[in-house]
Amino acid sequence: MSFVDGTAAPDAIAVDAMAAAQAWLLDMEAFGIDLLPRRVAGESAAVAAAAPSTQQRAPVQPTAPSTQRTATTASAVERSAALQCVAAEAAACSACGLATGRTQVVPGQGAATARLMFVGEAPGAEEDRTGLAFVGEAGQLLTRMIQAMGLQREDVFIANVLKCRPPENREPAVDEAQACRGFLLRQLAIVDPDVIVALGAHAARNLLQLTGPLGAMRGKVHTLGRAQVVATYHPSYLLRSPDMKRAAWQDLKFALSLLPARDGA
Ligand code: SF4
Repeated sequence: MSFVDGTAAPDAIAVDAMAAAQAWLLDMEAFGIDLLPRRVAGESAAVAAAAPSTQQRAPVQPTAPSTQRTATTASAVERSAALQCVAAEAAACSACGLATGRTQVVPGQGAATARLMFVGEAPGAEEDRTGLAFVGEAGQLLTRMIQAMGLQREDVFIANVLKCRPPENREPAVDEAQACRGFLLRQLAIVDPDVIVALGAHAARNLLQLTGPLGAMRGKVHTLGRAQVVATYHPSYLLRSPDMKRAAWQDLKFALSLLPARDGA
């Protein structure tokens, strides 16, 4: 295929790649990440280029974080098998009313040995259709947020408080979140992450069993078992309020600073 002047037209894949790159660049700009390199050899680009935080927070570690613990193959396999058991139980669950309206359960996915875990609120329409967590527009933004941290989705584990989609994407009801909490807690126990990023007020409240606004939970290290928990905005909120991406990036840098440095670094 070519344009009328004879130059080659980009194919659909190239157009998609360019659109994705443009979205990424716009996000980086909104996050306040200086893309002109101040890069240090051996550092991840995103960590090296990150502007210093103006908040009272621990500095970002200069070395790239390790997101997967040094597990034996058997350990990783065992964890994957255990996660599949949780997913299978969730698929058969009817403990709350959301079971009747779902297309399929969305248990969450990612590295069974991840050191960094993201927990959101509930599946949306695209997630309900595909059975995968964070694959809609908000999920694409989460992917770019993870990439800005110098990581890939495959490096982390992503799940939601609720495993089934609430109708019309309404907020989770208290009884629904309570009924589903056991699945999330088991996933947390199996993956055993060092750091959990709670995406949005509902996830933070459910994980930490706190009340109050997200603002009161951001900028602090919370604990859940042996994991450290950081709260930030949900990507859906960031899509509606892009001015808050810069603050979200500060939270993500904070979470990065809590991860142990790469083994042997
Ligand atoms: S949302 Fe959770 S508790 Fe409710 S039916 Fe789905 S899996 Fe079960």
